[in-house]
Formats: sequence, structure tokens, C-alpha cells
Amino acid sequence: MTDTQSEAARHLATARSDAAKGPPGQTARSIRKVGVIGAGTMGAGIAMAMSNAGLSVTLVETTEQALTRGIGMIRASYDASSAKGRLTAADVDERMARIVGRTDMESFHDADLIVEAAFEDMNVKLEIFRRLDAIAPAGAILATNTSRLDVNEIARATSRPQSVVGMHFFSPAQVMKLLEVVRGTATDPAVLATVLALAKQIGKQPVLVGVCDGFVGNRMVSHYTREAQFLVEEGASPGQVDGALERFGMAMGPLRMQDMAGLDISWAARKRAAPSRPENVRYCKIADTICESGMFGQKSGAGFYRYEPGSRKPLADPRVESIAVACAAEAGIRRRAISDEEIVERTIFALVNEAANILADGIAQRGSDIDVIYVDGYGFPAARGGPLFYADEVGLAKVAERIEAFRAEQGILWTPAPLLLELARSGKCLSNYV
Ligand code: NAD
Repeated sequence: MTDTQSEAARHLATARSDAAKGPPGQTARSIRKVGVIGAGTMGAGIAMAMSNAGLSVTLVETTEQALTRGIGMIRASYDASSAKGRLTAADVDERMARIVGRTDMESFHDADLIVEAAFEDMNVKLEIFRRLDAIAPAGAILATNTSRLDVNEIARATSRPQSVVGMHFFSPAQVMKLLEVVRGTATDPAVLATVLALAKQIGKQPVLVGVCDGFVGNRMVSHYTREAQFLVEEGASPGQVDGALERFGMAMGPLRMQDMAGLDISWAARKRAAPSRPENVRYCKIADTICESGMFGQKSGAGFYRYEPGSRKPLADPRVESIAVACAAEAGIRRRAISDEEIVERTIFALVNEAANILADGIAQRGSDIDVIYVDGYGFPAARGGPLFYADEVGLAKVAERIEAFRAEQGILWTPAPLLLELARSGKCLSNYV
């Protein structure tokens, strides 16, 4: 009862229950009919999550071909669960029967909730929400599964921004517990109460977050993966970086994680951001160079690692080593031996520093919400209670001291979060910050 793991478990139990609480005085509406837009990776998973909880789902795609592919993915996933003995054939039939595929949105005329999971492109989303505004009944909740886009801009495409909310599921959506519920500036508290209650009904752990690029989880992860790549440029191998973090307890190291997610999506985002990138900030070209060689991660057989056909086992790739050596030479970096301790501090403290900025910006309501997001959505070890509980255990004064040392070595990307410095000075904690 007195060790840190036990304290971490109790911290997370309270944190999960606090995170799921809705705004006071609001009653959740009942949701029975759900519409899902897009039957790709996420839309198919969201449809399954809803159907598994007994809700009726109308799944809409642009073409019959895309619809058939999406429904096929759902069927294959259910059949796989049935083959493992987790579902009976009758369960599969029931769950499939609750999902109806369509190629038009007119069938949303009696939906209680519509979740959009189309391409991550603002123009596509604006067009969809304009059409939803015309079709959906008054009082329906209009949700977007966007990973990073501005939920307020999407809401303004409708005449009812109070009904618009973000429901940020994680992949695979029928499995992953976390749901970031993104509150727009106009979102009605009753809509939030309903989505939080629905999350519980479909077996998800909701956490309420505000609007910013990447919300809480993805905004933090950009800092974590940035440091992972810098470490490779400075002399660590991808295997060493991932190994150190997996020994720390992460379910999967950051470079393997990126190979699994696909390197092309973040490459496209970096190309879009390139014109506005400040010149005095360190930029590592390793991932860009890997992508320029047509290596997009697991799906193309190579990324930070290489993969044998049909295998997900990451193998060291000498091409990546050469790319790292060339990038370091171009950037004037002398490669060196790097300790596992430095790998853990650089990546985990990068998460902690950005978390403190997120709290100061009011994007998360509580420090403990961020711990829930990282444990339930990003494979952070539960035994360590989440990144902020871990930072409190290390001691915020020590974390602040290390961040200031990294600032001196690495430059402004390591500017310490003012809130972190303030809490460290006053002997307070991040994980119970409200
Ligand atoms: P995807 O490319 O696998 O699927 C998108 C699907 O939407 C495609 O099948 C496409 O045909 C369909 N579509 C496009 N426009 C449409 C329209 N107007 N009407 C109906 N269907 C339409 O993409 P994905 O990975 O499922 O991502 C979907 C959304 O979820 C994106 O906003 C993405 O950022 C977000 N997201 C993705 C992940 C992930 O890990 N893949 C995680 C969280 C959130």
C-alpha cells in the first residue's frame, strides 16, 4: 500500500473518475441512432464501437466501392474476434445487422449523433458540416473525429455551433479506451454531458479537452517524437531509443509507433508548415529524408526500421543509420554515445514541459486528466501513474533543473514552461494541479 505503484494505481483510479464527470447541473440526452461519415480506418472502428454497445449505426461513404471496402473491414475484424472465441457467430450477425451502409447523408434525418471521420482536410470537413447542418434534425449532436483541426472553425460552418463537438477516438477505435472530448467555444454543456455519458456507455474513458493544434495528446506527442529523432541524429540508433523507452515501460517506443502510424502523414504536415518554420529553431531532416526514399513505415516495408514481408518485427536498417550520419554532418552535429537515462529524460521531460503549457493554457482542466490521456491513449506505463505523476515522483525541482540544462545545450525548443518553474519553486505538484 505504501509503494509508488500502488499510489500510481490509486491516482489513476481517481483521475479516471474525475475525468469522466460532466459539467454540473446538466442531464445527458439519450442517444440511440448514430451516423458515421467515412468508412476508413477510424470510421469503421467508430461504427463497431457504437454497434458493440447496441446502438444503431448508419455508415456513409462517398462511393459503393469505398462502402463495400469499409463494411468488409468491419466484417473481417468481427470474424477474427469470432475465430478467437471472443464472439459467437450470432453476436457477429447481430453487430453487423446494427450497421447499415449508405452512400448519401439523407438518412441522417433522424440521427441523434453524427460522427464525421472523413479525410483530415479542413475543406472536406467544412463541406460535410454545411451539408449536415441542412440535413440533421434540430438537437442532433454533430461531432468530428479530427486529430488536429480547429473544431471552432468547423462549428462555424453550421448555423448551430452549440451542437458541434470533437470526439477524438484513437486507432483502432473499437479497441482503444481513450476518447478526447473536444469542447468548442460555443459547445453547449448539455452536449458535453451527453457525449461524456455516451463514452461510458460504449466503454470508453472520456477526457474533456479544449481546442488547439493536436488537443492534449497529439500536441504533447510532437515534442516527444521530436526529441526521439534528435537523439537518433546525435548518435543513438532507433533500436536504442525505443528500447530505452520500452524498458521505462512505454507499450511501444516512439519510432516504432511512428512506423506503425505511417510517416507520410506527418511528412505532409511538415511540408505545409515549412514556409513558416523559424530559422533559428533546430530542425532534424531524418524523417523527411526517410520519406523522400519512399519509406513510409510498416505499410511500405521500411521506415525508421525495415520489415520482412508480412512481419511487424522492426529490424535495424543500415540506410537509416547512413541518413542519420549524413543529417548530423549537414547540421554540424558531432555524433556521440548516448545513455538510456538521457533518452528517457529528453523524451519524457519534453512531454511534461508541454503538459505544463497545456495546463497553463486551460486546454486540459486538471493535471490528472493528462495522466489519463497518456496511460489510456498513448501506452504510458500505468505503474508510473502517467507523465505528470512520474514528474512529481522525480521531483519538479529536478525536472526543472534538467529542462534548464537542455535549454542551455539545445536552445529555445526547451524553454521551460513557466507553470512548471512556478510549481517547482513553490514545492507543489503537476499531477494534482487544477
Ligand atoms: P481514412 O483515409 O482511412 O478514411 C477516411 C474515409 O473517409 C475514406 O474511406 C473516404 O472515402 C471517406 N470520405 C472522405 N470524404 C467523405 C465524404 N464527404 N463523405 C463520406 N465519406 C468520406 O482516414 P482515417 O485514418 O480513418 O481518418 C479519418 C479522420 O480521423 C481524420 O480526420 C483523421 O485525422 C482522424 N483520426 C485518425 C486517426 C488514425 O490513427 N488514423 C486517429 C484519430 C483521428
